[in-house]
Amino acid sequence: MKLVLASGNAGKLVELRELLAEGAIELVPQQALGIADAEESASTFVENALIKARHAARLSGLPALADDSGLCVNALDGAPGLHSARYAGGHGDAAANIAKLLDVLREVPEEQRSAHFHCTIVLLRSADDPAPLIAEGRWPGRILQAPRGVGGFGYDPVFFDPARGLGAAELDPALKNRISHRGQALTQLLAALRAQTHAA
Ligand code: IMP
Repeated sequence: MKLVLASGNAGKLVELRELLAEGAIELVPQQALGIADAEESASTFVENALIKARHAARLSGLPALADDSGLCVNALDGAPGLHSARYAGGHGDAAANIAKLLDVLREVPEEQRSAHFHCTIVLLRSADDPAPLIAEGRWPGRILQAPRGVGGFGYDPVFFDPARGLGAAELDPALKNRISHRGQALTQLLAALRAQTHAA
């Protein structure tokens, strides 16, 4: 099965390809087909994921996979949330986003720095698919006082996973993939896809 990935985020592509490596699913990034990013104009993760997937499915003629994800910090009432990619202004400027987050949280003590990553993944079999497959994942942790580690992407250097005692950018990539918001969501989505395929 060939799917177009409705994202230009290189970090996501690497993680999703790794997660799909064992199945019979080939992921083609939308840029490889000359498809530009859709405008994420909605106010929920699921709506934005649907907008992105529909846009990619319509322009490619292929089934489309999209994820909309973000970091939600409790002390900031869930910000940056939906706006994680462009928190500091420019889209996807991870260093600037991290600098802004650490600055905004500089007076916030450790016990109040709880946060989670959220991910919603959708699969549209066609642009007009009336029953998309939808799955969600959530990865709890807290925001570090300073960056740690060299792996991952986005906010990983400042996200600490208390269950593993390591920052997200310090985790082995395969482990991050298994436990992360994106890994959880994709695992559920694939299970739903398999269940449907077998029922058909
Ligand atoms: P979008 O889903 O493309 O709108 O952007 C999601 C943004 O959330 C990314 O650009 C990152 O800033 C952040 N993000 C999502 N998932 C992760 C992750 O696994 N690690 C670090 N940052 C992430």
